[in-house]
Amino acid sequence: MTAEALETLLEVQDRDLTIDRLRHRRATLPERAALEQRLGELAERRRAAAEIGARRAELLALEHRLDDEAARLGARIAEVDQRLYSGTVTSPRELQAMQADLEMLRRQRSELEDRELECMEQREAADAQLAAAEAVAGELAGEVERLQAVIAAAEAGIDGEIAAEQAARDALAARVDDPLLRDYEQRRARNQGVGIARLVGTTCQACHLTIPSTEAERIRRAGGGQVASCDNCGAILVP
Ligand SMILES: [Zn+2]
Repeated sequence: MTAEALETLLEVQDRDLTIDRLRHRRATLPERAALEQRLGELAERRRAAAEIGARRAELLALEHRLDDEAARLGARIAEVDQRLYSGTVTSPRELQAMQADLEMLRRQRSELEDRELECMEQREAADAQLAAAEAVAGELAGEVERLQAVIAAAEAGIDGEIAAEQAARDALAARVDDPLLRDYEQRRARNQGVGIARLVGTTCQACHLTIPSTEAERIRRAGGGQVASCDNCGAILVP
């Protein structure tokens, strides 16, 4: 144990604290919150678009059913019409009944066509709603992509800084004995990242609380010859 090792350990801690700050910055990039927000909005829009799409599909299916039904009635009408004027039916009562049938069929077809038109109008409104919802979702998806790119670029930049700090930190740490390094790391883990601090007068520079002056004097006399630590925060004290 030498005073030099403790000085080196202070430098190691400077690097460690810088790495902590970089990691924190990486984890709390403001774009992350914006991205979360946009992803939520995008999911909501996509849900809405899916609902409109499902309603539109139902309307389209109904439209086709009504169209088929109208076509069937049309065929029936043509058939009765053809028989009516074919001259094969001569009974006035039968002819009258067929005439009444025709009128009923035409009324039914007309009603069907009205319903079909109404259905088509609703389906066209759904088409417009769907297009609008998809356009908004498209814009949001573009914004999500942009934010993801910004975050990826920021992460890459910070990762580069962390790697450089880590390399410098490791080179420094290699000059400190393992037991002292482990002791520092354990204290650092327990004390919010601060495992070692300078003792200035009777004040620990980690927690800024004072230790008894006799204790401070003892630490100064030992001159780093043995590990002394702050009673308040547990940081190794460097005289
Ligand atoms: Zn302290």
